[in-house]
Amino acid sequence: MPALILSLLMLGVLLILSSRRRLIKLGIPAGRLISLDTSRFIHVTEPLYDSNLGLTGRPDYLVQRGRSRIPVEVKSGRAPQRPHRSHVLQLAAYCRLVETTTGERPAYGILKYADSAYKLQYTHALQKDLLQILETIRKAQDSSPGRSHNSPSRCRACGYLSSCDQSLA
Ligand code: SF4
Repeated sequence: MPALILSLLMLGVLLILSSRRRLIKLGIPAGRLISLDTSRFIHVTEPLYDSNLGLTGRPDYLVQRGRSRIPVEVKSGRAPQRPHRSHVLQLAAYCRLVETTTGERPAYGILKYADSAYKLQYTHALQKDLLQILETIRKAQDSSPGRSHNSPSRCRACGYLSSCDQSLA
């Protein structure tokens, strides 16, 4: 019996490790659930802009942490088991915009859902992932005749939403 329990425990650990590896390979940090003091949120009124990347966007809030400003993106739904890739990339884009406009790289960003919040490290791997996707979008836009649909819901579910200049969402 102890051997069976040990095997089951080992299987559980292997499954956790393999799913973490898959996520890391995809450039998606697992994130950490945190509690938040929302009274310290600073509302962002003007969009942030990175002229080198042609990237613009406005996080819902910023939080001052030492010399850094941490972007906060608010989602109205309940927190998924892991943050969606599109949400992570949107937050990464805000981290990049904060770095460009303030000169200070935020170590992480926050995805706040209705019932909890994730702290997501703004790693160099995530930044690389973001830059690759922006480059892919830029190439696609250069050769693309433009948006091929009129569906806002399709844009809302799209992984390129945060950087697409033809979005309907
Ligand atoms: S956000 Fe909308 S228009 Fe832009 S790439 Fe996605 S689906 Fe197409």
